[in-house]
Amino acid sequence: MVLGPPGGGKGTLAEHLAEHLGVPHISTGDILRAEVANASALGRRAHHYMTAGQLVPDELVTEISRRRLTAPDALDGWILDGFPRDLNQAESLAAALGRAGPEAVFALEVPDQEVIVRIAGRLTCPRGHVYNAEKDPPRRPGICDIDGEPLGRREDASPAVIEERMAIYKRETTPVLDYYERERLLHRVDGLGERDEIYERVLARLGSS
Ligand code: AMP
Repeated sequence: MVLGPPGGGKGTLAEHLAEHLGVPHISTGDILRAEVANASALGRRAHHYMTAGQLVPDELVTEISRRRLTAPDALDGWILDGFPRDLNQAESLAAALGRAGPEAVFALEVPDQEVIVRIAGRLTCPRGHVYNAEKDPPRRPGICDIDGEPLGRREDASPAVIEERMAIYKRETTPVLDYYERERLLHRVDGLGERDEIYERVLARLGSS
């Protein structure tokens, strides 16, 4: 499981880890964005919370996470990204999965100023691959290296919404880190540096967990 502030690099790390371990990468943010893009009933309910940078209500997110985590391709493991975001979700996850819960929880630590720079430069493709205009640009401007889809900015990347997402992370998600610390599952990882460096830090911890 990967947690971290908005723009902290959890999506990129989760994607790498999932590939390395051969298990699905399950991102509640990606699932919700796909529901919004399809204008499903869930997507229509979730959309305004997401554009405001607020958490989508627990009852919507908890059920989609539970369903996705118990799908056949997730039986041998998963990398969960962006869930749980508050204590209530963490407790629902424990109730739903019991012993099949997370084996390790990685929390990326990134200073606020760096978060702002990263989100402001972030480019994503419709399938969720992430680039940074400054630090990690695609090979062809505006085009995803992996699937050739056009890149765009996320609609929750304006300064006011970034601030709201950071405040919510501190208020709602920090207690989740403490919860997993008490469960002795938490690894706090320095999220500053090159993508590969951060990945190596996590792999080293994974080997010893
Ligand atoms: P992310 O891509 O993880 O930054 O998520 C983008 C947005 O989706 C968040 O700002 C929330 O509005 C919503 N979201 C994603 N995961 C959750 C969650 N576990 N609980 C509530 N809202 C979520």
